[in-house]
Amino acid sequence: MLAERTGKIKPSPTLAVDSRAKELKAKGYDIVNFGVGEPDFDTPEHIKEAAIKAVKEGFTKYTPVGGIDELKEAIIEKFERDNGLKYSKENIIVSCGAKHSLYNIAQALFNPGDEVIVPAPYWVSYPDQILLQDAVPVIVETYEEDNFTLKAEVLREKITTKTKAIIINSPSNPTGFIYSRKALEEIAEIALKNNIYIISDEIYEKLIYDANKHISIASLDEEIKAKTIVVNGLSKTYAMTGWRIGYAAGPKEVVKAMTNIQSQSTSNPTSVAQKAAVAALRGPQDCVERMRREFEKRRDCLVSELNKIKGVSCRMPAGAFYAFPNVAQFLGRSTEGFEINSSIDLSMYLLEKASVAVVAGSAFGAEGYIRISYATSIDNILKGVERIKMALEKLK
Ligand SMILES: *Cc1c(COP(=O)(O)O)cnc(C)c1O
Repeated sequence: MLAERTGKIKPSPTLAVDSRAKELKAKGYDIVNFGVGEPDFDTPEHIKEAAIKAVKEGFTKYTPVGGIDELKEAIIEKFERDNGLKYSKENIIVSCGAKHSLYNIAQALFNPGDEVIVPAPYWVSYPDQILLQDAVPVIVETYEEDNFTLKAEVLREKITTKTKAIIINSPSNPTGFIYSRKALEEIAEIALKNNIYIISDEIYEKLIYDANKHISIASLDEEIKAKTIVVNGLSKTYAMTGWRIGYAAGPKEVVKAMTNIQSQSTSNPTSVAQKAAVAALRGPQDCVERMRREFEKRRDCLVSELNKIKGVSCRMPAGAFYAFPNVAQFLGRSTEGFEINSSIDLSMYLLEKASVAVVAGSAFGAEGYIRISYATSIDNILKGVERIKMALEKLK
């Protein structure tokens, strides 16, 4: 008999769409894959070189559990440079990806029965990581009119004596929206008043467009910094998803607990990937700007094409690499053998009949939407949106 907790969680739905799309592709179908959650760019050359050098020099043994000093120092410099945040090494832990940092936080903070506030649409792993601790995800709806950011009055209503933490993700996966300074200040005030932790997932901080600015909630003041664990990583900024390096910064007692937990599970993140991460954080940053500009062009193209489809409306996201169009108008419609009653039905229809992979909004706790990743070429975007348009036109 398996442990009960295995029955509480599901495999990551974004990875599931991706694998079905790859399966169809392997069978010879020409699939446009809008399901992916990773940059399509290659890891920049100087970062790869640093890893090759580390391999050749024999930097292939265990390292300290929470990361090598050199990488922690590079992360401390990054926080100071980009966020105006001052940390010391005991505030930093390096993990096997930001997802792993988040998992360590969940293990370190949540007791069975603790409530954790998760604004929806949410990144797919938050509720399941909370459930794995026998804690309770309290899903709080946000609205398109508010650019899917959490309102103070809504948050206040959800707080109980059991509330332990709130998870904020800005820029957001799946919506691409970011929290304004004012919105963060309101959340911070409520968190302090109720003595709850803030977990701030800032993995898309470098992918921000137009005049929008990323603000880390921890940077508002010292008081809120002492209650915040900031999570970030190399995957999205430097096109390093496969290297598995993420990190967190927070109060030293929390980081110490996370490090103990990590010492009993994965131990250190891969030694040579840590060296690559040092090169990424300390090396030239023009590669980041190049990728950001390319994403921005694709976003502009995708959103404008989507809005040309009758019945689809898509707000212009401020960051990350996803558009989150409203497709509620198509629910309840049907065509030859397909009845569309949910965003899952719609995503299956688009995959099987239009050869386009998207992720259903319900995977992120938001019915009536789909997530389209623009981590793909302009040609693919144009081709994919045209297919979506034709398929949607058939729904009556
Ligand atoms: C991709 C992603 C992560 C995890 O990134 P890794 O560092 O590759 O584990 C965490 N949060 C969000 C919102 C993401 O989109």
